[in-house]
Amino acid sequence: MTATIIDGKAFAATVREKVATHVARLKDEHGITPGLAVVLVGEDPASQVYVRSKGKQTVEAGMKSVEHKLPADTSEAHLLALIDELNNDSSIHGILVQLPLPKHLNEDLVINAINPAKDVDGFHISNVGLLGTGQKSMVPCTPLGCLMMLRDHHGSLSGLDAVVIGRSNIVGKPMAQLLLGDSCTVTIAHSRTKDLPDVVRRADIVVAAVGRPQMVPGDWIKPGATVIDVGINRIDAGAGKTRLVGDVEFDSASRVAGAITPVPGGVGPMTIACLLANTVTACCRMHGLAEPEGLTA
Ligand code: NAD
Repeated sequence: MTATIIDGKAFAATVREKVATHVARLKDEHGITPGLAVVLVGEDPASQVYVRSKGKQTVEAGMKSVEHKLPADTSEAHLLALIDELNNDSSIHGILVQLPLPKHLNEDLVINAINPAKDVDGFHISNVGLLGTGQKSMVPCTPLGCLMMLRDHHGSLSGLDAVVIGRSNIVGKPMAQLLLGDSCTVTIAHSRTKDLPDVVRRADIVVAAVGRPQMVPGDWIKPGATVIDVGINRIDAGAGKTRLVGDVEFDSASRVAGAITPVPGGVGPMTIACLLANTVTACCRMHGLAEPEGLTA
């Protein structure tokens, strides 16, 4: 079997198009421009790249983009004051604090200071609770992107066996909640799971979110299963070069799976697209307007 490649890049483009269409309608019919504020503390190079990319795509979708770049030694009080200001700014519908924060800042405290209605990353404890109890919430972008691709590929996910490898608050746990919400039978595997290959072999859907290059080989995959590879790992490619690989051994897995996301070009592009989708959703909810279809869980 040769797997269907789930093209996250192309899918993300369709999500961004839907967002842009809805943004245009909000402007034309209601005079509202959704606004996203991104806060970056410090000079982590990877975070700077993400923030630049988020700002660019926000503007391309027709939305207002605001960036706050603060020095690495910013005090917690200063950061909390900025969040308070953004919470009270009616032109801002989404607030994202780029993680990780410098060590002297308490991430939980900072994230939980964001108005949950503007928490477009879906990390606020209220949104975590709402998602866990199957209520309307802001859903973390990466798992939301994975869910969209799975729904698009399968139609209904009801009754499928899903294994999520990784139990982080950012990817693994919300991913498992979303799959449960779509009536999958869900197993969360992690670093202490006994006989991981056997657990993975039972799955119709495998979501790998570990951060270990190519740790899932093809012979762990049930023939015909759908594989969503969240991992982004940079490895040595020889001759002083590096390349990106996922948590799944793509070549062997794509010979067994029914469908698979590549790295790069799979889950990655969906994450920012879902951030834009969450910003429009937050804006619509704040104004009591109809939400765009197909852009939420
Ligand atoms: P994390 O380090 O917070 O969590 C990793 C999880 O993997 C942990 O729960 C741990 O229990 C589990 N784990 C570790 N070793 C394991 C093993 N040997 N067997 C089974 N489970 C094991 O990481 P994260 O933030 O969830 O990210 C995971 C990966 O996804 C990383 O590569 C990250 O770069 C990537 N990521 C990608 C996107 C995207 O946009 N595509 C977004 C977020 C994260």
